[in-house]
Amino acid sequence: MAMAFPLIVEPIQVGTRRLPNRIVMGSMHTGLEGEPERFGELARFYADRAKGGAGLIVTGGFSPNHAGRIKDHPCNFDSRETIANHRRITDAVHDQGGCIILQLLHAGRYSYHSAPVAPSPIKSPINRDAPSELSGDDVRQTIADYASSTALALEAGYDGVEIMGSEGYLISQFLATRTNHRMDEWGGDLAARARFPIEVVKATRRELGSTGILSYRISALDLIEGGLNQDEIAWLAKELEDAGADCFMTGIGWHESPIPTIAGVVPHAAFADAAANIKNAVSVPVIASNRINSPDVAEQVLRNSLADMVSMARPFLADADFVNKALSGNQRAINVCIACNQACLDHYFTNEIATCLVNPRAIRELEFNDAPAPKAKKVAVVGAGVAGIACALEAAKRGHAVTLYEQGGQIGGQFILAARIPGKEDYGKAIGSFEHQLDQAGVQTVLNASVSPDELAEQAYDDIVVSTGITPRALDIPGANDPRVVGYKEVLEGSAKVGGQVLIIGGGGIGHDVALFLAHPDDGEADKLAHFKQHWGIEQERSPPAGRRQVTMLKRSDGPFGRTLGKSTGWILRQELRDYGVRQLASVTYLKIDESGLHILNGAENEVLPADTIVVCAGQDANAELVGQLEERGCSVHSIGGARLAGELDAKRAMAEGAAIGNQL
Ligand code: NAP
Ligand code: SF4
Repeated sequence: MAMAFPLIVEPIQVGTRRLPNRIVMGSMHTGLEGEPERFGELARFYADRAKGGAGLIVTGGFSPNHAGRIKDHPCNFDSRETIANHRRITDAVHDQGGCIILQLLHAGRYSYHSAPVAPSPIKSPINRDAPSELSGDDVRQTIADYASSTALALEAGYDGVEIMGSEGYLISQFLATRTNHRMDEWGGDLAARARFPIEVVKATRRELGSTGILSYRISALDLIEGGLNQDEIAWLAKELEDAGADCFMTGIGWHESPIPTIAGVVPHAAFADAAANIKNAVSVPVIASNRINSPDVAEQVLRNSLADMVSMARPFLADADFVNKALSGNQRAINVCIACNQACLDHYFTNEIATCLVNPRAIRELEFNDAPAPKAKKVAVVGAGVAGIACALEAAKRGHAVTLYEQGGQIGGQFILAARIPGKEDYGKAIGSFEHQLDQAGVQTVLNASVSPDELAEQAYDDIVVSTGITPRALDIPGANDPRVVGYKEVLEGSAKVGGQVLIIGGGGIGHDVALFLAHPDDGEADKLAHFKQHWGIEQERSPPAGRRQVTMLKRSDGPFGRTLGKSTGWILRQELRDYGVRQLASVTYLKIDESGLHILNGAENEVLPADTIVVCAGQDANAELVGQLEERGCSVHSIGGARLAGELDAKRAMAEGAAIGNQL
């Protein structure tokens, strides 16, 4: 049979190492980098990815010295104290035949602690404190620190290091005129500003000798004013190759850039052209990154000669076996990263250990029991939303005979609706993968099944898991039965007709998503990449299109809209709604609906808002009655997701609860 991905599977030479394929697991902070006593967890996490076929693994960022740590919680690798802990990681990866390099990241002015340092004392717009300027001696010492950390990394068994030179961290800060105002040998023209990264690479190369891999993560696009242009980036890459870089990982955008780079709104492989610019300048392998989450997209990037290798970080959280599944023809069962950032990046920002929404095992591998259950039970899971799916998959993995009942004609629950939102199309792909995984796990999925408590009790299940989800809350004011009032489910499913003037009741995540869905210009099959670049001003003036409808969002509580949205994605959604002219009214009281529209109290003023359609996004109530009915019949019952608790339900909690119960049955 012809290999589905003939380019991904090709081995490649990086420095003196021959890697077995073209897929790199890119660096991703897990939150455990500063907790060496927990490196056993990281060891298992990385080892599983090595076993799953990743050609090369890059760790999360470790600082070469104390000043460069990202947060107060130190993640420095500057002493021999933690070598034994790092050894646990490298041994575990090598035992699986993998190759792992340590990323060295000095955060510079992006450090979230009280004493950041930088080339010049210019505060970043996303940090509280201005940095102190590094003296000439400090700069030289910092270069020496990179070299010392590299020596430690080798001693700890790493196969090399990656120098983090992108995303606006210290090295970017030296390179850009925006952040480097120095008048000494480390500032001035590009050659002087590039002296720091070039010296870092030379010093690191000396420590590595000829065998260790030296990956340099280059900022392939800065996406900020005062950053480097494409010619300057190409020049820099050549200089760094001459200084000793074995390959170039690409990074896109500084963290302070107001342009989305990894969220769902970014089209797949949107920035691969920037990798091609570097590939044209150097002769060592160049690795494309950002929003590449499937083997098809990766293969396409290689086929178009935009890069020599492809890096994915979050997709390896979503599926440890990504590469093996792709290369064994089982790509449809790859658990799809939906670019939500909810359990990975957002956890990092809120000081939680990262994991993955669609794979609650990620970085929690040691909490899950992999042994077959002592007794293979007969298990029913009622409701095939994401909680039920996660539960059924885990239970089947432990050897239970699982039947998954779904009232509707398709599995996926709220993911089916989410997939309709612009930028969330990958949720639909995730459902497709769940179907394959359930099939392969031997779960019997029964669709269109409104199974009664009596029927379930009669089947003598050992355990019944109720994952019947939620019902959208109805609006409870006079006139709420007006035909112009519709639920968000009907709107997203397409069964409700929506006019040009829309009111949205509720300012939660769903209210925001529905506002985007209704205001977003319908560009059909048009060129998504060109629209994305035009909207966000990449290589051109920013010019968002006009909104498709006149949309007003309302909520009763005070304060700004969107506070509950994800840390790393909420700003994008808020910006899009502003771009499309969505109006937002907080602190309102709903009075009634009549032929003239929705009557509200807005502050002390009575106001009537005319509307063609009023969409209710007012939260949810639990569908929990089955739990009591089954308990009355003496069944062993568990409830998960919305059926257990509808308040603040999100898919992350739903899947985590489902997976935990499923694994424990
Ligand atoms: P939610 O975040 O709890 O928001 C419910 C909204 O309904 C609130 O804004 C509330 O506003 C309003 N509300 C509550 N009771 C009401 C009533 N009786 N009458 C009128 N308005 C009422 O719930 P959701 O929007 O349904 O989202 C569900 C979950 O999914 C949340 O955890 C959410 O974070 C998550 N989610 C997130 C995203 C995202 O991040 N993009 C997208 C979808 C879903 P007031 O009380 O102020 O009126
Ligand atoms: Fe991808 Fe979301 Fe998982 Fe992060 S949490 S890896 S973005 S699916």
